[in-house]
Formats: sequence, C-alpha cells, structure tokens
Amino acid sequence: MAGNKTLTMIKPGAVKNKHIGAIIDRIEQAGFRIVAIKSLKLSKIAAEEFYQEHRDKPFFGELVEFMSSGPIIAAVLYKDNAVEDFRKLIGSTDPAQAEEGTIRKDFAESKSQNAVHGSDSDESAERECHFFFSTLDYLRVMK
Ligand code: UDP
Ligand code: MG
Repeated sequence: MAGNKTLTMIKPGAVKNKHIGAIIDRIEQAGFRIVAIKSLKLSKIAAEEFYQEHRDKPFFGELVEFMSSGPIIAAVLYKDNAVEDFRKLIGSTDPAQAEEGTIRKDFAESKSQNAVHGSDSDESAERECHFFFSTLDYLRVMK
C-alpha cells in the first residue's frame, strides 16, 4: 500500500523570487496537509548528504552549490498516495517538459533551478522526512 507522506523543499530560487506563498497554496489546494514545516539554509555538507544518491552525476557540484546558496523551506506533506500525487503536482524535473499547471512549469527557472523537490518513493520519503524532522514533529497529525 502506498504511503501517506512525502518531503518537499521549496528551493532557494523560488524562495528568492517570493514564490513561497503561491507554491504552498498550490500544495494545499491539491489536498495535501502540511504537517511539519521549517525555513533553513543548507550547508554544502548537508546538501551533499541529502542528495548523496546523485554524488557521481555530472550535475552534482552545481546542484550542491545551488541548494546551499540561500534559504529553503522544508515540509512534510500528508495525503493518501502522497509520493505519486505530489510528483504529478510538481511535474517533470525539466520545466520545459513539465505539464501545464504543474508547480515546476509555473515557477521553475531551469532544469537545475526547478523550484521544488519531491520524494521519489516511500523509502526516500521516510529518509528525507527524517533528514529534516523527527517523528515527534508530525506524529500527532499522522495518527
Ligand atoms: N538536476 C540537474 N540537472 C540534471 C538533473 C537534475 O541540475 O540533469 C538537479 C535538479 O535540481 C533536480 C535534482 O538535481 O531536481 C535531483 O535530480 P532528480 O533526477 O532526482 O530529479 P527530481 O527527482 O528532483 O525530479
Ligand atoms: Mg529525485
């Protein structure tokens, strides 16, 4: 059975461009409950750790630089079938290929600076939620 939580980040470019409110509105209108949320700036070490699965990719250095370049919003989102439904809401990694009405289509600047993150599996969601939050931060809402 599909899990009911996913982790999102509003990336530095979208925060800098003052899209936090609009993006959170899209998320809530799509039926997700924000059960934990915080604003922080990732260090390079933290960005490297979060994106460790991509460490051998050619874009890794640029990704780490970007993700540690300014404040982000991290949030745990709650909904049935959360991972899959949120990936649909954000659209393809490259905004040029993202479907109309998706968050990346409307707010991403480029494939690397693509406005938001969404977990790609229930297993990743578990790891990523615990990267930023403790179970105690959202347990009362999930039960
Ligand atoms: N990325 C990039 N160039 C690429 C592919 C990915 O800069 O060719 C960045 C982009 O910010 C993306 C992140 O690396 O969101 C993680 O890549 P992934 O393939 O996991 O895409 P996502 O799951 O975010 O859609
Ligand atoms: Mg991914």
